[in-house]
Amino acid sequence: MTIANATSLTWHWLEELANCSETQEPNSEGVTRFCATPEHRRALSMLSSYMYDSGMDVRKDNAGNLIGRYTCANPKAKTLIFGSHQDTVPNGGKYDGALGITLPIALVHYFNRHRLDLPFNIDVIAFSDEEGTRFQSTLFGSKAVAGRPNIALLDHTDSNGITLQQALGEMGCKPEDIEKCAYNPETVIGFVETHIEQGPVLDNEDLSVAVVTGITGLERHVITISGETHKLNSPNLDSKQDALVGAAQVISILNSICKHDFELKGVVGKISNFPNGVNVIPQRTEITIELRCSDDEKRQQTSQRLFSEINQAMEELNLSIHSELLYEQKAVTCSPQLSDKMAAAIESHDLPVRKLFSDAGHDALTMSHLTDIAMLFVRCKDGITHHPKESITTADIRVALEVLERFVLNLASE
Ligand SMILES: [Zn+2]
Repeated sequence: MTIANATSLTWHWLEELANCSETQEPNSEGVTRFCATPEHRRALSMLSSYMYDSGMDVRKDNAGNLIGRYTCANPKAKTLIFGSHQDTVPNGGKYDGALGITLPIALVHYFNRHRLDLPFNIDVIAFSDEEGTRFQSTLFGSKAVAGRPNIALLDHTDSNGITLQQALGEMGCKPEDIEKCAYNPETVIGFVETHIEQGPVLDNEDLSVAVVTGITGLERHVITISGETHKLNSPNLDSKQDALVGAAQVISILNSICKHDFELKGVVGKISNFPNGVNVIPQRTEITIELRCSDDEKRQQTSQRLFSEINQAMEELNLSIHSELLYEQKAVTCSPQLSDKMAAAIESHDLPVRKLFSDAGHDALTMSHLTDIAMLFVRCKDGITHHPKESITTADIRVALEVLERFVLNLASE
């Protein structure tokens, strides 16, 4: 078996995995795969078979993460962990998350065919939930593995009122025992995530891969704006309290704060309107806000300013507002030791070492609480991501495999 074969395998698996989707046509409609759904279960069954065929032992943990282990003969050996998330955003791409699972399994497949004995175990994890779309439960899977499970998220409900706890139970997990998902940090060498760049730099500079230096800090809020329901022909329209008008104001305030500052990224990505009737003034509107910045202090200051402007605007509109911080994560720096090794692996293939900061959050962010982390970015066409048009090439998959092979072998020879 050659790295070229491992490249074809990765590509084939990515195509197969894309069919585990709520959409009928992943090529045009993209991939929709949320946590603890039938699509998630199908994806785990496929990934399990890839892992078994690659000589790995396979288990599922209580947070819905799937873990394959390429076991070292020495029972006291430590573990190098690879992985990324299996879930997608609605109508997302085929590669965001999935690449960081399939590519390291293909690398293990290659090692296994060559009967390579490593002085450590290699684990590949398909994290259950990173995007958090269904339950607004960002990074749920990797938090559990990192020993920081967010128990409160288990009570979060999806749009049908099903809790995350119920949904995980239905797929055979025991979320009440979520603590058992945690790795012992003393047994872990590090965590390596391969991920598409989600930005245009590599494509613009015609490079295949980059070493990630750090990951953005971020915070996510859900805001409920409440007014009063009236029929449109109600006599007291002068005092109408339209919650959706309030939501529009929030979106506009966030946009005006973030649009001229390239360090700040802010988005209102989700909106639910009640009662959502064609001739009824909206009584209650729920929206999410996500704010990201590489500088934690600046993000916190921006957040204060944002909420002070929002509160003032809601007061002027005579609307009430309730906000809940769903998630906050400080910016993290990748391990210089592991990242230097990744850079050396890139150099050994006579490729330039490009270093990039990640503006998007990743599983590696939470895994940094458990162990040293490193990330390898892979070029995606025009930087388009979270979209059916997300696109990568087999040539770049091959480069990533070659780099990770060298990275593992260098680590093994130390
Ligand atoms: Zn991702």
